[in-house]
Amino acid sequence: MTAQTPGARAWDTDRTIVRFPDPAIEIVDERFRALVVEHEVVDRLWTGGRWLEGPVWFGDGRYLLFSDIPNDRMMCWSEVTGQVTVFRQPSNNSNGNTRDLQGRLVTCEHLTRRVTRTEHDGTITVLMDSFEGKPLNAPNDVVVHPDGSVWFTDPGWGIEGNYEGDKAVKEIPRYVFRIDPGTGTGVPVITGMDRPNGLCFSPGESRLYVVDVGHIRVFDMDGGTPVNGRVFVEMSPGQSDGIRTDRDGNLWSAAGLGGAGFDGVHCYSPDGDLLGRIHLPETCANFCFGGAKKNRLFITASRSLYSVFTEAQGTQHP
Ligand code: MG
Repeated sequence: MTAQTPGARAWDTDRTIVRFPDPAIEIVDERFRALVVEHEVVDRLWTGGRWLEGPVWFGDGRYLLFSDIPNDRMMCWSEVTGQVTVFRQPSNNSNGNTRDLQGRLVTCEHLTRRVTRTEHDGTITVLMDSFEGKPLNAPNDVVVHPDGSVWFTDPGWGIEGNYEGDKAVKEIPRYVFRIDPGTGTGVPVITGMDRPNGLCFSPGESRLYVVDVGHIRVFDMDGGTPVNGRVFVEMSPGQSDGIRTDRDGNLWSAAGLGGAGFDGVHCYSPDGDLLGRIHLPETCANFCFGGAKKNRLFITASRSLYSVFTEAQGTQHP
């Protein structure tokens, strides 16, 4: 392998000529070679957003939805045309997105401080907007468990200023909630975290990972209850945001606010060993696995959308 400086790349909206291997793909541990494609390039698919978040793949429509939080819109990138169009505006400063077991879009909204579901006919159902009579802070990211329950974090960045929502006073602690699929009622399942952010389950749902700013915590799942919370990895000198597991149980993490050589996507083994990094020239907020084989990372990083094919595959359900 040619030694190149990690992340040393010219980036533009055209397909820049890159000498393989792409220096944006850094092998830290030899195990990472089996998870990436040697002759593959990290592409910038689109730029022109303000703070992009919440990518979610729709294989049935061959498109990706993602949030542009400060611009109060959700965008749609088409795999068919390569074009980006506005999907929803206003979006109530939407942030994290996922799909439920019926394929319906589930969205965290900052402005309205709620979690919603978009029905197949396009109408919007509010899943949760308050707890014990008080408004949520500002839901950030969301995942659906195979039992149909909706899990989301409520750190409240969306009410700390007017940039990503409306400034307001926080009225409840920063919980991780679980909305029961039968009753529709949401209750805190994790308390005491500083700023819960991205979250995902391991394959088989034996573990739950939750980002808490500068580190990622892991919980064992005891039935439907997360227990034995502990630090999985520290993200110093930066921090994490969105996270996903692949089918082998590796944990992929958005990495941001660490500067060049850090920002991008990091991949960890189930034991917490750093395997490799995808370097980006912008702070990374979130990503998801998409494409027909779920082997393509779609990455929202500051103002731009990136993608890279991998040999890892996302879990079947978002
Ligand atoms: Mg987030």
